[in-house]
Amino acid sequence: MTPEQLLSEADRCVKCGFCLPECPTYRILANEADSPRGRISLMQALAKGEIDPGARLEIHLDRCLACRACESACPSGVNYATLLSASRALITQRKQGRPLLHGSLALLVDPKRLDYWGRVFHLFRRTGVLTLANTLPSARLKRLLRLGRQLKPGASVKPGLYPATLPTGKLVRLFTGCVGNQMEPHLIQTSLRLLSRLGFAVEIPEAQRCCGALHRHNGYPDEADGYCEANRRQTGKSRAQTLITLASACHLELHEHRASRIPVTSLTDFLLDLPLKAFPPLKPYTGRVAIHVPCSSQGDRSRELLQRIPLAEIVALADNGVCCGAAGSYMLSQPTLSIALGSAKIEHLKNCQADILVTGNTGCAMQFRQLIAEAGLEIRVMHPVELIARQWGGTSDEVDQTT
Ligand code: SF4
Ligand code: SF4
Repeated sequence: MTPEQLLSEADRCVKCGFCLPECPTYRILANEADSPRGRISLMQALAKGEIDPGARLEIHLDRCLACRACESACPSGVNYATLLSASRALITQRKQGRPLLHGSLALLVDPKRLDYWGRVFHLFRRTGVLTLANTLPSARLKRLLRLGRQLKPGASVKPGLYPATLPTGKLVRLFTGCVGNQMEPHLIQTSLRLLSRLGFAVEIPEAQRCCGALHRHNGYPDEADGYCEANRRQTGKSRAQTLITLASACHLELHEHRASRIPVTSLTDFLLDLPLKAFPPLKPYTGRVAIHVPCSSQGDRSRELLQRIPLAEIVALADNGVCCGAAGSYMLSQPTLSIALGSAKIEHLKNCQADILVTGNTGCAMQFRQLIAEAGLEIRVMHPVELIARQWGGTSDEVDQTT
């Protein structure tokens, strides 16, 4: 998007302020510059060259979660997410590519490097070095160390063709995600087993790339487009009937940027769209299950799926329209705000007395796992599909909830 295109889209904002009460950062900080309307004004000034990218501008744009709650509230239909991505790209351009940020993103989207650093991290943890690092004053470093405990080096699921239990000729492709495969390999393993039992062979290609969301949201649209193109090209060669996603953030990016030549479906939707008779009766569960709906999961159907579990009490977590503060790399870049938003969710969880929290996004699951553990709560965090697999007599019980 050129600065002129950015200005033209931003001009659609009539500054009515309807979006302000929906914006989580405005609700916390009560500052116009941390509201959608204020940020759009800053973006306009940036595109016109009236202000330079610098700490004062970036601080407000960086605090934005990209949760898009403002878009749903906007009567003028302003495409806020596009404006934000374009503005971040302008800042990146004008700041010579921000090499430090670029290097960190490169690490997150490279499974081999992430696995390597996961091993180093665990080694440091065993030797006690991390206890010292934890005393450092940097809130970002502390957050990194706390979240890093969820890394499962060496456990990631390898690319390959995973056969169905019975040969049926049905083939699907699984999008594993880069961080997801390091943080939630148990979810991928459970999904493989579930699909196999339903008669689907599953392919995970070696050439699968990141969905591009992290780069797009941080001001590197060309790289994000490159990832989309790579995924588009390799799905074009596949015989699979659909590309199945597990994390809603990856799903949204693949879907919005048409990064697949075969249809993209979340595993939740895929299971719901199978004929009912393909599904075995599920074992009853007598606990309470709270559903967290990620910002990236528009039209979330987890409740519909989980209602198939006899006796389970399914409740929506209060304030589901408000971001949990995970928001991709936001957890690391804005630890204070991220934890403030996450802690509000923990209070809702305590109030609803849930036994299990389900969420369909890796980042949200990481946020909840850390904050639940630190609050001393015994609430398990699962993907809706993991709970279904468990009640089918699947093997989700072996899930390691390391935090
Ligand atoms: S995307 Fe979310 S945090 Fe950012 S301005 Fe909109 S509502 Fe606020
Ligand atoms: S609701 Fe839409 S038009 Fe109104 S201030 Fe917010 S972004 Fe602008």
